[in-house]
Amino acid sequence: MLDTNSSRSPTKPRGYAAQSPSLGNRGVSAPDGVGRAPDKAPLKKHGRWWMLRQARKITQRKSMRCCGLYAHPDENAVSIVRSGKKGDELAVRGVLRCGSMICPVCSHGKQVERLGQVQRASKKLIEKGYTALFLTLTIPHKREDDLGFLLDGLQRAWRLTFSGRAGKLQKERGLKHYLRCLDLTHGQNGFHPHYHAILFFDHILTDDDLFWFEMEIRHRWGRAIEKTTGKALVSRGVRFDYPEEGDVGAVSTYAMKLQALTGAGMEALLSQTKEGKDGGRTIWEILRDYGRKGEARDAAIWRDMENGTHRRRWVVASKGFLEFGEEDEDDQDEEQEEAEPLLKLSAVFWRALCCREMEGRLFDAVLEVTEGRVTEDWLILSRMAALSLTSARMTCSDWILELSRFP
Ligand SMILES: [Zn+2]
Repeated sequence: MLDTNSSRSPTKPRGYAAQSPSLGNRGVSAPDGVGRAPDKAPLKKHGRWWMLRQARKITQRKSMRCCGLYAHPDENAVSIVRSGKKGDELAVRGVLRCGSMICPVCSHGKQVERLGQVQRASKKLIEKGYTALFLTLTIPHKREDDLGFLLDGLQRAWRLTFSGRAGKLQKERGLKHYLRCLDLTHGQNGFHPHYHAILFFDHILTDDDLFWFEMEIRHRWGRAIEKTTGKALVSRGVRFDYPEEGDVGAVSTYAMKLQALTGAGMEALLSQTKEGKDGGRTIWEILRDYGRKGEARDAAIWRDMENGTHRRRWVVASKGFLEFGEEDEDDQDEEQEEAEPLLKLSAVFWRALCCREMEGRLFDAVLEVTEGRVTEDWLILSRMAALSLTSARMTCSDWILELSRFP
């Protein structure tokens, strides 16, 4: 097994690459309001930074409280760069990041990176004649259940269902690869953690194969859940989805949904697909609601979520699966070209902007200027940015004071 969530050290921001249009996420390219609560799609553009600001207020993790605020020790300047495949999004380079899967900014970068890898890997396997099978596995839960307990149960049930003798049998039936992602919502009945998985078989599955496999999994998962939690599983505790044979588009769309969970909020981008049937909220929706209403209950749910998911693996792939999705050298070259900074500013000035909750305003000004519109904000902020690079004696509080005079 391969842990794809092993890096815990702060990572440099990667671009916000645009997703493929087939995912129906047009909202991604629409500009977002300044530092204002994002509407339907909470994670588009710098709405993510607004979300991070909320997360900093309630998180118990020091790394997240500091995420995006401080510069790398060997770099004293922060750059705003163009990013995304269409180049219509912005990223911040040179700041230390928490790298957490529950951080609105960091999870997005990881998600985009991983989405590409999963899509490439799936495509290669499907082209080789594999069949993909999509599966959702749930665990019974009650309002008072501890998230850690539920996650332990899920993890153990997975092991009981897919390894040992069972695993050997499944392998003989052609199951060669899988990708397993943890999804999490919170609703009336407390936390609802579940797995989404894609299983790859090395041949086209016949109806008989499908029938056998569905029986096999329903039986094993049901028994495993009973063993780990002592509760009986209802029949909808296991759900299968069958894409059309060789339908790479379907695989990608579902993979996108899988990514969503890890940064569960991307689900909102896919709101046209069925989601949140049980009235549950994703972790991003909880964060968004906290930002809007400031309710202590939402902050408490967020903290419970942090405790329960601490050191958990959100995405697990079978050995060798992600290697299929490694980029060709040509693609990597392409990506490196995007780093030309649109604006450079000192680290303390950047931090002051964040403290004054003005980073969204800066992003908007930069976006406007890339489209040829020079705004009042741009004139003032770009002048201050240039000044910040030369006046090393200005502290963060000096800049905060300067910015408080900002119209
Ligand atoms: Zn972060």
